[in-house]
Amino acid sequence: MGKYNGPLCRLCRAEGTKLFLKGKRCLTDKCSLERRKYPPGQKGAKVRFKKSNYKYQLREKQKVKRFYGLGEKQFRNLFYKSAKQKGITGENLLKFLELRLDNVIYRMNFAASRTNARQIISHGHIQVNGKKVTIPSYILKVEDEISFNEKSINNENIKLMLENVAGLVETPEWVIVDTEKKLGKINNLPTREDVSLDVEEHLVVELYSK
Ligand code: SF4
Repeated sequence: MGKYNGPLCRLCRAEGTKLFLKGKRCLTDKCSLERRKYPPGQKGAKVRFKKSNYKYQLREKQKVKRFYGLGEKQFRNLFYKSAKQKGITGENLLKFLELRLDNVIYRMNFAASRTNARQIISHGHIQVNGKKVTIPSYILKVEDEISFNEKSINNENIKLMLENVAGLVETPEWVIVDTEKKLGKINNLPTREDVSLDVEEHLVVELYSK
């Protein structure tokens, strides 16, 4: 499946849940899902999903994939990686997704959304343990330190963006953030309870295990 370039709010309405794809707007009453709590399309308001088991599985997979902003191939590869780890595959998958650099940047309030975080990372503004990392899918480990590179921290656009996103989302307990210095650290691994998305990840596992 190709990259989706349509309206982002449509994705939330299709999944019937907030995926927080548009930064501050998602937290206001301008959120499309607050105003139109039915699937997109002409018959959307009248449609009640009659889902088969397969459709439930597919919807849950799409929901997670879109929430974290991954393409199908990337998501599937991460699933296989999760299945090879010890423990529960679905929880491993969510843990990897939470530990992606783009997600962490967003959850540390260093970007307005995960999409914005990906731009910041790929433009070379972010360092991990003092070294530039331009890969949004980079998986962080406990004790990793995340910072802006020195030039970026003095960049007026970055300064303005950071002012705008300050306190936007609740920072999870598994990260430590120094808001003054714009530094962050992975303090411990995220647990299932730390995932803010309402998802039944076992359905994703069932879908890929067929
Ligand atoms: Fe989704 Fe609402 Fe944000 Fe639009 S504004 S992306 S519907 S959460």
